[in-house]
Amino acid sequence: MGDVRGFLKVKREYAQYRPVCERLNDFSEVAALRTTAQSQSQASRCMDCGTPFCHWGCPIGNYIPEWNDAVFGGYWEKAFRLLDATNNLPEITGRLCPALCEYACVLGINDEPVTVREDELAIIEFAFEHGLIKPRTPKKRTKNKIAVVGSGPAGLACADQLNRAGHHVVVFEKDDKLGGILRYGIPDFKLEKRILDRRLQLLEKEGIVFQVSTEVGKVFSVSKLKKDFDAVCLCGGSRVPRDLSIEGRHLKGIHFAMDYLVQSNKKAAGIPCGGVQGIDTKELNVVVIGGGDTGADCVGTAHRQGAKCVVQIELLPKPSEQRPEEDPWPKYPRLLKTSSSHEEGGERHWSILTKKFIGQNGHVKKLSCVKVDFSGKDEHGWPVMKEVSRSAFDIDADCVILALGFLHPEHHGLLEDMGVTFDAKGNVDADGKFKTNIKGIFTAGDMHRGQSLVVWAIAEGRRAAHAIDEYLMGKSALPKM
Ligand SMILES: Cc1cc2nc3c(=O)[nH]c(=O)nc-3n(C[C@H](O)[C@H](O)[C@H](O)COP(=O)(O)OP(=O)(O)OC[C@H]3O[C@@H](n4cnc5c(N)ncnc54)[C@H](O)[C@@H]3O)c2cc1C
Ligand code: SF4
Repeated sequence: MGDVRGFLKVKREYAQYRPVCERLNDFSEVAALRTTAQSQSQASRCMDCGTPFCHWGCPIGNYIPEWNDAVFGGYWEKAFRLLDATNNLPEITGRLCPALCEYACVLGINDEPVTVREDELAIIEFAFEHGLIKPRTPKKRTKNKIAVVGSGPAGLACADQLNRAGHHVVVFEKDDKLGGILRYGIPDFKLEKRILDRRLQLLEKEGIVFQVSTEVGKVFSVSKLKKDFDAVCLCGGSRVPRDLSIEGRHLKGIHFAMDYLVQSNKKAAGIPCGGVQGIDTKELNVVVIGGGDTGADCVGTAHRQGAKCVVQIELLPKPSEQRPEEDPWPKYPRLLKTSSSHEEGGERHWSILTKKFIGQNGHVKKLSCVKVDFSGKDEHGWPVMKEVSRSAFDIDADCVILALGFLHPEHHGLLEDMGVTFDAKGNVDADGKFKTNIKGIFTAGDMHRGQSLVVWAIAEGRRAAHAIDEYLMGKSALPKM
């Protein structure tokens, strides 16, 4: 531990964002990188406590106290080596992770936690800037060929690990570009695509073969996949959207969030949308239904497109701003989240049920809503939703975006042809070693665990890679985490 009194002397500094009036004019990243000196000072707040709960809170087991100590001492290369040992995409988690670790930080019990995510980002950006990252090709190649289906964070982490173990890895991606949700879901104002491309170029130089515009189960048959490869990891994500089947759902102007975000991301990248007329919210009254991260990304996108008014509504009650009793430290609590998009304008409302969409000339014009109350409980103690009497009201809406989450992966095509079984939620079923019911077929990421987080996709991709290596070689030197 570099500075034993660091946490007493230095206060936490929050991430700095570009001014709202400036950032709303473009799709560039809103967060500004810290200086080296700021990172060293913030890293000095890490207490190097005997039992680092942050390490437990991070799904990939990042060596947080160790790299904080190295950053404080100015040993950036050491910090990078430690980070690189557990995280395949730190420049992504450093920007997008909700920092589960910070909720488990011991300093967070009675002070502000260490800025772990920003420290992580500082290390990886320092490493790229100072040439510490060079393509590493494995010294020896095995004869094994492995197919990874899907190029989101789970597929990329899995492919990276298996390539490091010396196997021949081919990643199949049905989209025209690589990255999964990182490419065509998450807007550039959270993650500029040059950051993703920088990593992809590195992985390609290291020997991973990428095949884009290749949907397995359609363009590339499942039988050929099974014949040509010794093992397969299914990392196709979970994209069947939850719908809102109420009166008026057929009206024009009602879109799923991913349709909206994919088109917007393509537009920002100058990629044609294949003849489809883009969803443009300029000068429209926009209502986003769903209070999560996806909804927040739609709010930020609508503001950048010049929407007249943006309202985000959520069925569940407003989460607490303080850690609730049922989620004590070091658990990751359900708390009110205010993203950079929320700071840019618009309104947010909770405990709102949408009863029907009202249209004019076949196009949505209003939402008919009612307030709901969850204070009652059923016989099992679960909250019961009750409409509040005389609370009905309408919201003007020329455009409605449904950001209600995802049910499970698409079953038709790849998964049904493959013959894999599903769990009760409709995700691909697997044992503790990511093996499906079909010999040699593994699965990881959202396709296996359901809609989740980038850091969990990386964690599963890494663990599946260990299991695949062990399946092919009898043992594996790849880390289990
Ligand atoms: C709008 C949005 C914002 C989000 N923001 C955050 C955030 O800020 N922080 C965070 O931690 N998480 C966030 N998430 C969640 C996170 O992006 C996902 O959990 C993560 O991307 C899952 O990774 P994955 O690799 O399992 O799947 P995906 O990223 O979905 O990638 C799956 C890939 O597989 C491809 N594929 C599917 N089927 C086939 C096939 N048959 N053949 C070839 N390719 C195929 C798909 O085209 C896709 O590219 C967000 C999610 C959304 C939707
Ligand atoms: S990946 Fe997420 S949970 Fe892990 S150290 Fe980074 S910010 Fe924390």
